[in-house]
Amino acid sequence: MAAGGCVLDVHDRMALPGGSGGVPQFWLGVVIETIDGQGATEAPQESEARLQALLSSLDDLVFELDENGTYLKIWTANDALLAVPRGELIGRTHREALGEEIGLSLANVIVQVLETGRSQFWEYCLEVPAGIRWFQGRVAPIAGSEGPLRRLCLLVRDITEQKAAEQARDRAEEQLRHQALYDGLTGLPNRTLFHDRVEHALAAARRENEEVAVLMLDLDRFKEINDTLGHAAGDEVLREVARRLSKVTRGGDSIARLGGDEFGVLLPNTPETDAAMVVSRVSSCLEESIVVHDLPLNIDVSVGLAAFPKDGGDADLLMQHADVAMYVAKTANGGFARYESSADPHKPDRLSLIGELRGALERGELVLHYQPQLTLSTGNIMAVEALLRWQHPQRGLIPPDEFIPLVQETGLIKPLTHYVLDLALRQCRSWMDHGRPMRVAVNLAMRNLIDADLPSDVADLLRLNGVPVDLLELEITESAVIADPLRTKAVLARLAKMRVRLSVDDFGTGYSSLTYLTRLPIDEIKIDRSFVTDMSSSPDNEVVVRSTIDLARNLGKQVVAEGVETADVLQRLEELGCHLAQGYYVSRPLPIEELDVWLAKSASLSTV
Ligand code: C2E
Ligand code: MG
Ligand code: MG
Repeated sequence: MAAGGCVLDVHDRMALPGGSGGVPQFWLGVVIETIDGQGATEAPQESEARLQALLSSLDDLVFELDENGTYLKIWTANDALLAVPRGELIGRTHREALGEEIGLSLANVIVQVLETGRSQFWEYCLEVPAGIRWFQGRVAPIAGSEGPLRRLCLLVRDITEQKAAEQARDRAEEQLRHQALYDGLTGLPNRTLFHDRVEHALAAARRENEEVAVLMLDLDRFKEINDTLGHAAGDEVLREVARRLSKVTRGGDSIARLGGDEFGVLLPNTPETDAAMVVSRVSSCLEESIVVHDLPLNIDVSVGLAAFPKDGGDADLLMQHADVAMYVAKTANGGFARYESSADPHKPDRLSLIGELRGALERGELVLHYQPQLTLSTGNIMAVEALLRWQHPQRGLIPPDEFIPLVQETGLIKPLTHYVLDLALRQCRSWMDHGRPMRVAVNLAMRNLIDADLPSDVADLLRLNGVPVDLLELEITESAVIADPLRTKAVLARLAKMRVRLSVDDFGTGYSSLTYLTRLPIDEIKIDRSFVTDMSSSPDNEVVVRSTIDLARNLGKQVVAEGVETADVLQRLEELGCHLAQGYYVSRPLPIEELDVWLAKSASLSTV
């Protein structure tokens, strides 16, 4: 029924493709005759002309075929999409006109349409005058043409743009998948994919009763290359190491870049003796120096090995133990170590902690306790020191001395320090928000001080947490400065330029204290607790404390005494003109909730 109420006799009809979920977008009615109320009929030629005009106005190509695929009629104005000139198409089959491959695919579609009586579609690519295009063809039986003269309608739509968008989407997805599993710099698998492969290798090894070896490699002093020659040189070294490692392993082995200057090698179905040979091949492939910017660089590597089933039954444990072995190798000044759980009753225990530390950082098991610093002239608390603890799920609270000395020579110290700084500055922000601004002191390790990224990291974290620079203090040790004075000085100078307060921790335990004191841009000296705690009973220590206070004051620096455990010591420090006191007598380092209670109490006491 048409809009005007007249009856339309729809002889042929077909669905146009393009609707979602296979539902046609609209129906195309091929009107051969219209019959009005009085029975007047439009002449067939006029009807045909109107139909021709209607179909030609579509972007789609419409053809009428017989059941052998022979072209009977063409309705289209767009010759640029016709692979064969229209004059050469009529009377020929699809196969004759367009060749074997496409012809065959249409023949198959026609068979299905004739069998099912329902329309079918398929996609194909063809060169036409407009270029190489993708098409979606749809074949439908023409209603009313049943019997020996069965006719079919072929509707062809140009889907090149849609196809290109689909392909771009597929490529983007593939790229994302690749990025999630591969390292962008070297093209090697990353930690996630490596872990996955270790798991697969272990599953196969369990089935086949095989051995698997995992190697962890860490380049020695790579940081120096990065810091002195720049990141581009560092990147080149990493790429070259990746290339060389790929050459010394077999087809089934996997090499991965696990982060920074760390690589992993998985040797499936490999007995330990063979793995040891791979280790020596790895070392010798790096013997020849790597030339970057015309500079020959000698790259040493520390390698740790853990083997299945002896050293661990799952991927996590095996990788962790290979990591531990690598740390052992590194502590022994490079070379190679295999995982030993029984070598030393204490050491492996502590070392295995290091393997767990990365996960602990991600799980947020590392917490800060805060120890207040008492201003001796006023009795107020205006500053605290942040001290790290590891809330281990099995072992309880682990003090920093049990894990920091082990990580501080490895790349892990960087994310660890970043984490501590962020946590401390968040806390600082929270005190500000509660109207009680408090300065927080954060300890730095030796390796942090040669990290050229440290100043910008600190600046970012201050900005992100909205903390003014004078509320942060960084504690450094003399020995850290002495170890590499040149580079340390550059980092400290940048921090000082940013106006970050710098404090020399454990003062008096280093060697060349006095010389460095005058040359470094420091604001504060912290007298080591070994002099302070027993100064009341040790005249020698009292002399050290007194002269350090004098020295600091004369140089215009603030001075803090740590390890104040008694009222006597506190009083003596006040008499000597020490600025701040920190120690168990004032308060032990406290978790934040306890510190807040303590601060509230001490504030009410000082106002009484
Ligand atoms: P430190 O910076 O010299 O910290 C002071 C240490 O002395 C703390 O030990 C503190 O608990 C302890 N202490 C404070 N008052 C007294 C006292 O009256 N008597 C005695 N006997 N000890 C007192 P803690 O927390 O075990 O930290 C040990 C060291 O670990 C720190 O020494 C610091 O060098 C390092 N550390 C702590 N947190 C971090 C951190 O976040 N990063 C780095 N790199 N090192 C850290
Ligand atoms: Mg300290
Ligand atoms: Mg100290």
